[in-house]
Amino acid sequence: MRLSRYFLPVLKENPSEAQIVSHRLMLRAGMIKQSAAGIYSWLPLGFKVLRKLENIVHEEQARAGHHAMLMPTIQSADLWRESGRYDAYGEEMLRIKDRGGRDMLFTPTAEELITDIFRAHVSSYKDLPLTMYQIQWKFRDEIRPRFGVMRGREFLMKDGYNFDLTKEDALHAYNRHLVSYLRTYERMGLQAIPMRADSGPIGGDDTHEFLVLAETGESEVFYDSAVTDLTFGDREINYDSVEDCAAVMEEFTSKYARTDETHDEALFNQVPEERRRTARGIEVGQIFYFGTKYSEAMGATVQGPDGKNTPVHMGSHGIGVSRLLGAIIEASHDDNGIIWPEGVTPFHAGIVNLKQGDEEADAACEALYSSLKLIGLDPLYDDRNERAGGKFAGMDLIGLPWRITVGPRGLKNGVVELTSRKTGESEEMPPEDAVKRLA
Ligand code: ATP
Ligand code: MG
Ligand code: MG
Ligand code: MG
Repeated sequence: MRLSRYFLPVLKENPSEAQIVSHRLMLRAGMIKQSAAGIYSWLPLGFKVLRKLENIVHEEQARAGHHAMLMPTIQSADLWRESGRYDAYGEEMLRIKDRGGRDMLFTPTAEELITDIFRAHVSSYKDLPLTMYQIQWKFRDEIRPRFGVMRGREFLMKDGYNFDLTKEDALHAYNRHLVSYLRTYERMGLQAIPMRADSGPIGGDDTHEFLVLAETGESEVFYDSAVTDLTFGDREINYDSVEDCAAVMEEFTSKYARTDETHDEALFNQVPEERRRTARGIEVGQIFYFGTKYSEAMGATVQGPDGKNTPVHMGSHGIGVSRLLGAIIEASHDDNGIIWPEGVTPFHAGIVNLKQGDEEADAACEALYSSLKLIGLDPLYDDRNERAGGKFAGMDLIGLPWRITVGPRGLKNGVVELTSRKTGESEEMPPEDAVKRLA
C-alpha cells in the first residue's frame, strides 16, 4: 500500500476522551472512529488487524475440528422466552420491535439460536460430537461502555457451542477449546492465562476465563507466578485424544490462578509466598460447560445407543475478538506508539523515503516495494512529500515490526537502513539483504 493513497487519519494530539493507552493509540493511529457511545467504525488500518485476528481464530478452530457458521444478529424474542432468558437477561439486552409489533432483539450471545438449529436437525447420538462456532457482532447495552473497543456496546465475538452425548464427552470438548484458545492467543503474541472463574447460577467448576495481565484490566486476579512460565509453543496435539487435551488442561490449570469472583484466600496462602501475585487482567475469552441447561429447556435431545432420548450436554466458548485489539496494544506498546506482534501486524514493514522526488531514492523505494510484494509480504510505503521526522513518528505510532529507511546518502554507499520497531536497533545493508531478512 502507498501511504499517499491510503486512508490513515492519524491524530497529532491525544484525544481527551481516551483514558487508557490502547484506546488513545487506536484513535491516534486512525484505526477506529466512535459513532455513538461504545459503537465504533473500523477504519482501514483497524479493520485490517481485526481481519487478521479473525483469521487466526478461524484457523485454530478448524484445526480443532470445529465448524464455522453464521447466525443473524437480530433474533426473535420467542426463543429466548423458551429458555427463560428473555426476562432474565435484563437491561444489557437491546430490545427492538419490528413493524408488526413483534419483539426482536440484537443478539448478546447465541445459545438459544444454536440450540434451535440443533434440535431441528440432529436426533441421533451418531451425529455427535458436534461443535459449531461463528464470529459475529454482538450487542450488550453496557452501563459503562469505556476504554474504546475494550468495553464496547457493539463488539465482535467468536462464540462456539459444543453438543455431546455425555458429560465426559462435553468435558473433552471443554478441554479441546482450552487447547485451541492457548494456541490462538499465543499466535497473537499474547500470554492469556486460563483462570478459574465464576460459573454464576449454574454452579460447578467448569468455567475458565483467559486473562491478559495489564494494569488497565478490569478484573482483579490472583495467581501463582509459575503460571506465567507456561507456554504452549509449537507442540503438536491430537484434538481427538481425550488424554492429550486433558493433559494440557491439567498442565495449565493446576496452579493457582483465579479471578476475584472465585478467589480463595486460604488456598492462595498455600502458594509459596514469593510466588503469590495479585494483579489486574483483561478477560479476552471464556470457556464454559453448562450441561443440559438449554437442551432441557428447549427440548434438544438425541437418541442414545440404548434407544432412549436424552438432552445433550453443551458448553459455550467465547473469544473477544474486537477487545483483543485493545488487549494486544495494552500488552505491546511504548511511548511512541503501538508495537505489533508479527502475527497480527497490519503491514509487515514500512518503507520510508527520506527524499521523495529524488530519482534514485524513489527508484530504490519502488524496487523494494515490489520485491517485498513479490515474496508475499504486505509493505506500507510512505511515499508522501513530508519531513523525515514526521514519517518516522507516523511509522512508530502505527507500530509495524520493521522499517526500511531509504535516502540518497545511504544509497551512495549502496545501503538502506533496517530498523526493528521493538528494539529500536538499526542496521545498514544493501536493499536486497533487507528483503532477504524480512522473508
Ligand atoms: P465482561 O466480564 O468483560 O463483561 P463477559 O464475561 O460478560 O465479559 P462473555 O459473555 O464471557 O463476556 O463473552 C465472551 C468474551 O467477549 C469475553 O471474554 C470478552 O473478551 C468479550 N466481551 C464481552 N463483553 C464485551 C464488551 N462489552 N466489549 C468487548 N468485548 C466484550
Ligand atoms: Mg459482561
Ligand atoms: Mg466476565
Ligand atoms: Mg465472560
